[in-house]
Amino acid sequence: MGSALTVSNPAPLSTLTTMQVGGVPKRIITCTNTEILYSTMAELWDGEDQHQVLAGGSNTVFADDMSDWTIVLVANRGIEIVAEDSESVTVQVQAGHSWDEFVAWAVENDYAGIEAMSGIPGSVGATPVQNVGGYGQEVSQVITQVEFLDQETGELAIKPAAFFEFSYRDSALKHGLLGIIGWVEFRLLKLDGLSVPMASGQITQHVGAAYGSQLPLSQIRDSVLELRSSKGMVVK
Ligand SMILES: Cc1cc2nc3c(=O)[nH]c(=O)nc-3n(C[C@H](O)[C@H](O)[C@H](O)COP(=O)(O)OP(=O)(O)OC[C@H]3O[C@@H](n4cnc5c(N)ncnc54)[C@H](O)[C@@H]3O)c2cc1C
Repeated sequence: MGSALTVSNPAPLSTLTTMQVGGVPKRIITCTNTEILYSTMAELWDGEDQHQVLAGGSNTVFADDMSDWTIVLVANRGIEIVAEDSESVTVQVQAGHSWDEFVAWAVENDYAGIEAMSGIPGSVGATPVQNVGGYGQEVSQVITQVEFLDQETGELAIKPAAFFEFSYRDSALKHGLLGIIGWVEFRLLKLDGLSVPMASGQITQHVGAAYGSQLPLSQIRDSVLELRSSKGMVVK
């Protein structure tokens, strides 16, 4: 299992956030697997330390004075295929894995369902929080279950997607459900290298296809990255 890497003289949080603001915290605990993540969180929830979970840092802004704060860095990575048949593949992705790297992996392997969410910054584990989405797709369409340590009950359980009450850019995690996500499971489709029907006029217009078309996955990814770059929405 190993132990958490704790840096007690860390770099400023501005180096870990997209907005590049935030002072030096008291310490950063880097969690490279779920056991470390869960035990770290349980300890912090039981203790007195002010703390904040941070993953990709693309939706977080910190104050200049963070000297009393412990930061838990979600850094567990990895993609595992847990089930597969002729129509679909089910994958568990560790919370700290880069979302866009996961999308790139799916596109490369001809798995459909998340291609239009290319270029969205941040981690896989943060995607359920606001039901991340873009260009007609959202993660709630493909999430099957999530491993979740509940802060209130202390229960570690694999929760079905319905538990998180997903709606547009929203979930129960934004309305009082407290806890930490260790991994997220997705069911992606095998459509012979094609996307799911594109539910975004912006994309279909961009590639000159009819709304609802199924297009090569790599074409969708490239188009979305192009569109997002043109709007300054791709974080380098
Ligand atoms: C340029 C840009 C473009 C964007 N485009 C889109 C878009 O098209 N669609 C969209 O939906 N969003 C978009 N976003 C928002 C952002 O991509 C998402 O909010 C993303 O999910 C944040 O992931 P993160 O890992 O960076 O989260 P962080 O900023 O690290 O954390 C965000 C919140 O989630 C919590 N959190 C993180 N990991 C976990 C975990 N494992 N368990 C429990 N809580 C956790 C944190 O505590 C924090 O409260 C964009 C942001 C930027 C900067």
